[in-house]
Amino acid sequence: MAGYEVPRKFLTTVVGSYPKIPPAMELIKKRRSGELSEEEFRKLIKGPISEAVKDQIEAGIDIISDGEQSREDMVVYFAERVQGYRPGDWVRIFDNVYFRKPIIIGELKWTREMIVEDWIYATSISMGRPVKGIITGPYTMMEWSFDLKYGDRRELIIELAKIIRREIDELVARGARYIQVDEPALSTRPWREEAELLKEALDVIFKGLDAKRIVHICYGRLEKIIPYILDYPVDQFDLELKNSNFRLLPYLKEYGYDKELGYGVVDVHSLQIETVEEIKGYIDMLMKMDFIGPEKVYVDPDCGLKRLPRSVAKAKMRNLAEAAKLAREEW
Ligand SMILES: [Zn+2]
Repeated sequence: MAGYEVPRKFLTTVVGSYPKIPPAMELIKKRRSGELSEEEFRKLIKGPISEAVKDQIEAGIDIISDGEQSREDMVVYFAERVQGYRPGDWVRIFDNVYFRKPIIIGELKWTREMIVEDWIYATSISMGRPVKGIITGPYTMMEWSFDLKYGDRRELIIELAKIIRREIDELVARGARYIQVDEPALSTRPWREEAELLKEALDVIFKGLDAKRIVHICYGRLEKIIPYILDYPVDQFDLELKNSNFRLLPYLKEYGYDKELGYGVVDVHSLQIETVEEIKGYIDMLMKMDFIGPEKVYVDPDCGLKRLPRSVAKAKMRNLAEAAKLAREEW
């Protein structure tokens, strides 16, 4: 990418979502109610995307996202755009998080691009920085939908994987170099069979793909399935670590971790802004464990930043970028 040189070590990035910037929520509601066509929505959502991109650039992030300004939610957004789904009713998924769990009523089919246009726009204003192509993974789509059609989880996850692969192929054809599949649901069922089911689906998604392949997994008892995920066909695991007090690191070392690591160093559930010194300390701690080189470490937040106030989200990104810069001088 012209005009921007990505650092060779301790690259900084984000998991993807960013606080909704007005009028993004209003536009999403108007699109759903039919007040805006998809085409009008796409045009107007560029305002919030450009603000999210600007914040990331100002904070010093190397590999940015479009801030997921178009997505009210990581499952509903795709369910609304994949044939075979219909909208569901509000249900509680965990804590006080509710969403409209979509329902699979027919054969699932990719019919149109879902995230490509936002990615192209973000790339056009990123001043040369790579923009990650980020899509919800097949395991999470499956777990957070009601299936009234397939009745077979393996068949369903493979169908979802094919749809996701189709979208990713569109992105890569447009020049996307970093592809991330988000799988927060995996850690809610941390069992070997589940981990292996996702592996089959990831084979469909990533086989022969000419781009950096990333899977983001967060929260839950991930240590229980680490041995079964380490051979996933990905270049990088992007993991939440700060919130669980870096509990996973000794397991990664023990199992001979040899991929790149998206190293979650700021807690997205806390309003407290981690200082540069604190974050630098987390990077030093990882380096001192001596199982991964600095060129394989991508410093980032634990998870999407969407639930934080914008000023807090931006401050956390700025501090992690500053800490990464200091770490580059030392390691
Ligand atoms: Zn996450």
